[in-house]
Amino acid sequence: MRAADIPDDISQVLLTEEQIQDKLAELAARVAADYAGKDLLLVGVLKGAVMVMADFARHLPMHMEMDWMAVSSYGTGTRSSGVVQIRKDLDTDLHGRHVLIVEDIIDSGLTLSWLLENFASRGAESIEILALLRKPDAMKVELDCRYVGFDIPNDFVIGYGLDYAERYRNLRDVAVLAPHVYS
Ligand code: IMP
Ligand code: MG
Repeated sequence: MRAADIPDDISQVLLTEEQIQDKLAELAARVAADYAGKDLLLVGVLKGAVMVMADFARHLPMHMEMDWMAVSSYGTGTRSSGVVQIRKDLDTDLHGRHVLIVEDIIDSGLTLSWLLENFASRGAESIEILALLRKPDAMKVELDCRYVGFDIPNDFVIGYGLDYAERYRNLRDVAVLAPHVYS
């Protein structure tokens, strides 16, 4: 689905498919250089990271393994509380592994900071984060994210894996959701 297919639902296209692909190729080149000679395990956080993972992994010019985790963070309404429950755990033993967590977006950062601690307690050798998007004005915890695609304003965005009420994940671009859709 393209932005032109749902003009009434979108107030602004933030990033086009082409901008996203260029950025993922750039990040893949950096990751390949940083992990040369190492066994790399990519861990995607379901469901939002599905598109980022699929495209980023295919831009990577080296071997990798892929695993997935599903978590839900509990809070009031749309606010993440930092209390995280694992809905689907990894299949992989993290002991001694070089883990790169692949995420769609860092909002408060609470989910990822919980995941970092959780993975560290499983004995991973190294843990880094790759996030396509980051909202610096929304972050509530300090989080060291080595690979960031784009810093964006504190608006609710959809597309390229990101949903509102499970819709819009198949939009090829990243766009700001029109306020009338959720108000
Ligand atoms: P947090 O960093 O713990 O607050 O949670 C980040 C998660 O909230 C992301 O992985 C997304 O699933 C979701 N999220 C945060 N901001 C947005 C947004 O603007 N659009 C869609 N989902 C979002
Ligand atoms: Mg997510």
